[in-house]
Amino acid sequence: MEKNSQRKPIINQQNIHLDILAFGAHADDVEIGMAGTIAKYAAQGKTIGICDLTKAELSSNGTVERRLIEAKAAANVLGVHIRKTLDLPDRGIYINDESMKKVVEVIRYFRPKLVFAPYFDDRHPDHGNCARLIEEAVFSAGIRNFYFECKYPAHKPNNLYFYMINGFHKPDFVINISEFFDKKRASLETYQSQFERSTDTVDTPLVNGYIESVEARERLFGKEVGIRYAEGFKVKRPFLVDYDLLGEQQ
Ligand SMILES: [Zn+2]
Repeated sequence: MEKNSQRKPIINQQNIHLDILAFGAHADDVEIGMAGTIAKYAAQGKTIGICDLTKAELSSNGTVERRLIEAKAAANVLGVHIRKTLDLPDRGIYINDESMKKVVEVIRYFRPKLVFAPYFDDRHPDHGNCARLIEEAVFSAGIRNFYFECKYPAHKPNNLYFYMINGFHKPDFVINISEFFDKKRASLETYQSQFERSTDTVDTPLVNGYIESVEARERLFGKEVGIRYAEGFKVKRPFLVDYDLLGEQQ
């Protein structure tokens, strides 16, 4: 685990195919929802990428440059291989041809087995819009004749799952992150511009005990299944349980 934690992310590495690709509207979305899961799979040697759709240029606190530095630091903490930032407009994430092609290109380039997106029911409209755009893009990425001029071939991820940012919803499944909550907290703490108060900080929900509330949520999700910490996910379709329900589980 320690070995992986010190691995430097390889930003923009060519020709890497990912096990997991997690999309967020803004840098820190993915960490809030599923940093523990990412740290867990990275520790198992899986290849993970994070793609932030915007540069979060409308953030109340922190500059675009500072947020990019914080995002890279968070990726380092989690052992993420790729962190990519697209240039969709902050508060301008909509399903249109241009945005769809940008996301489809990322999916086709990295060929992830699993894709994650924010859950659509969230206080921030960008998160819901991100969910809808990613869902459509995952579908379109697999259609050979969609965006035919794209440099990369069609790709169908195996599944799309939704993580929670601001919302507190009953999860469809949870992942045990008890051993990785410290990493989750450390990744969130790299976003000092968002979660720490300083003299020129604008008051937002993020600087009022936000990390504490995320910890409480993951603790409750864990409690539901008899473990310490878990991250909760939503699905749109039922997924197949292919292990013996009476047998040993991991
Ligand atoms: Zn966000």
